[in-house]
Amino acid sequence: VKGDGRNGWCYYRAEMDEQLQARVEMERDLKIALAEGQFQLYFQPLLNLDSGDIVSFEALLRWHHPVTGMVSPAVFIPLAEDCGLIGALGEWVLREACRQAAAWPQPWRIAVNISPLQFRHGSLPGLVRKTLKATGLDARRLELEITESVLLADETHNLKVLNQIKGMGVRIAMDDFGTGYSSLSYLRTFPFDKIKIDQSFVRDLPHDRNATSIIRAITEMARSLGVEITAEGVETPAQLDALRAMNCREAQGYLIGRPAPGIEAYAPRKCA
Ligand code: C2E
Ligand code: CA
Ligand code: CA
Ligand code: CA
Repeated sequence: VKGDGRNGWCYYRAEMDEQLQARVEMERDLKIALAEGQFQLYFQPLLNLDSGDIVSFEALLRWHHPVTGMVSPAVFIPLAEDCGLIGALGEWVLREACRQAAAWPQPWRIAVNISPLQFRHGSLPGLVRKTLKATGLDARRLELEITESVLLADETHNLKVLNQIKGMGVRIAMDDFGTGYSSLSYLRTFPFDKIKIDQSFVRDLPHDRNATSIIRAITEMARSLGVEITAEGVETPAQLDALRAMNCREAQGYLIGRPAPGIEAYAPRKCA
């Protein structure tokens, strides 16, 4: 028993070391990536279902690792948060997103994801104000996407921060709505401009009755609260039809457009 246990432990230990090693290497590479400009923003369109127009784009971060290739933000954002790089990375994302959006041929909105840690450290309102000024982007064209975990910790501080940002004319959207514990209670506490229904609900449309009921309830509630609503992860025409039937206002997903490095596909063609 003893021998087995020790072997098991050794094996476990070796695996842990390997994982730790990979992580340390990736954290080191993240720092290099920021310094050497290996990051890029992709943009995914949001479609207004009433007008049929593209109204906005969400900025989604991409990392082109020189050896391993494209790394998913789902992997490196948590690492950047752990090793203290999310502040610098988030600053780069905000500046780059605003800089590009300011030069777009139409006044589409730009939605930027904000890590909960960006609220805790430093002054997010100051950074937003500085960035808008430096890039010349109209504050009303900027939307920050936050998850409810932002409000979980130190609610009073974070509410103050959110209200300061809103006071500049910047919009605030609640991302991944429905996946947290208290999405509903936060709607009461904070005047969000928009709710983004998580793709896990949309995925089960149109046949799943529970998903349909939940989305219907969310859209009705949003309407009576005067909050805009976007459905995420729309992949099929049947899902889009179901969302239209529920008076969902906006849709985002592969059906409408995949994240891409530029917005050229949506811009009106220039005449020679
Ligand atoms: P998110 O904010 O919920 O972004 C939506 C994710 O769903 C994106 O994944 C997008 O590519 C993907 N998606 C869009 N349409 C569809 C669809 O029709 N079907 C499916 N299956 N997926 C779809 P992505 O780009 O890999 O980003 C993953 C997450 O990483 C984001 O989730 C966000 O939480 C985080 N993230 C991305 N960029 C940034 C950033 O600049 N800053 C921060 N703090 N987080 C970011
Ligand atoms: Ca988002
Ligand atoms: Ca989301
Ligand atoms: Ca998500």
